[in-house]
Amino acid sequence: MRESELHVADVPQSAGTGAVPAPARIDELVAAAHARGIEDRTGTVADYIPVLAEADPESFGLCVADVDGGLHEIGDSRIRFSIQSISKAFVYALLCEEIGHAEVRETVGVDNTGLAFNSVVAIELNDGHPMNPMVNAGALATTALVPGATPEAQWDRIRDGLSRFAGRPLELDDDVYRSETATNQRNRAIAQLLESYGRIRRDPAGVVDVYTRQCSLLVDAHDLAIMGATLADGGVNPLTGEQVVSAAVCRDTLAVLAASGLYERSGEWLFEIGLPGKSGVAGGLVTVAPGKAGIAAYAPRLDAAGNSVRGQVATAYLSRALGLNIFASDSHYLRKDQP
Ligand code: GLN
Repeated sequence: MRESELHVADVPQSAGTGAVPAPARIDELVAAAHARGIEDRTGTVADYIPVLAEADPESFGLCVADVDGGLHEIGDSRIRFSIQSISKAFVYALLCEEIGHAEVRETVGVDNTGLAFNSVVAIELNDGHPMNPMVNAGALATTALVPGATPEAQWDRIRDGLSRFAGRPLELDDDVYRSETATNQRNRAIAQLLESYGRIRRDPAGVVDVYTRQCSLLVDAHDLAIMGATLADGGVNPLTGEQVVSAAVCRDTLAVLAASGLYERSGEWLFEIGLPGKSGVAGGLVTVAPGKAGIAAYAPRLDAAGNSVRGQVATAYLSRALGLNIFASDSHYLRKDQP
């Protein structure tokens, strides 16, 4: 979305190099971000997975989780929804932890396709390479690599790993799982295509099933903010204190999110917001300010690429007002000259 669509042209950009404001100030800014987001009624709720169309388009929750464990929440931050594509970021992190930087890069890739998340053409254009783990092809290739002798064993590992990111046991939304299973012919086709290129070396139907389950895990904005804060804090969950993945894995994951977390809109997002983020078609959006905080929004109306509109508006405001944009600096030279 453009700056004018994000309604932040009037918000001064604080440098991303400083500390975050005091907790009471963060609460105020989270409330202001929510007030801006709620004004926006553009976008449409996803309906290609039939049950997602039942979401209340007006729902809007926001949560910031600081790396020191502070939580700042407003609105529908405890309404649960399916994590969808946001699971890709965390399954990717778990896989990097298991099999390492070099192998994941080789097999799945790290470059943006420039095409929609469910593109088949992108696979063909790249000689069968899935390109990156944040589109369906790369996410299916990632899920296929998760250790486990059976799909059931892989699923247990994924659910357990994502629960450790959230700091509580996550559950499957059975309705979403069944609705997507009945309509995911396209993902099945993508998995078979990847198998034909030797990029998936397991039964593709089993891979799609595990992937569909990971997308159907229920979270709320408060969970997602904690999951994001874990990636912001070198892999340590700020509430449980558990080291879920290493700091090096967080770095690798955030680099991939910066390049491709908002699909073909990732460049525009980075240009306006300047932080790694990941969206899902149920309306979730998680953003990570390294060393500082996780920001999560839930609002089901999406832009044409499948990213939450209100989530983007609120996050754009917070990035500027909290001083999170990783590309925004103040001049050290000018500061040292000041009396
Ligand atoms: N489960 C969804 C799919 O595979 C996830 C897509 C998304 O959130 N963008 O189509």
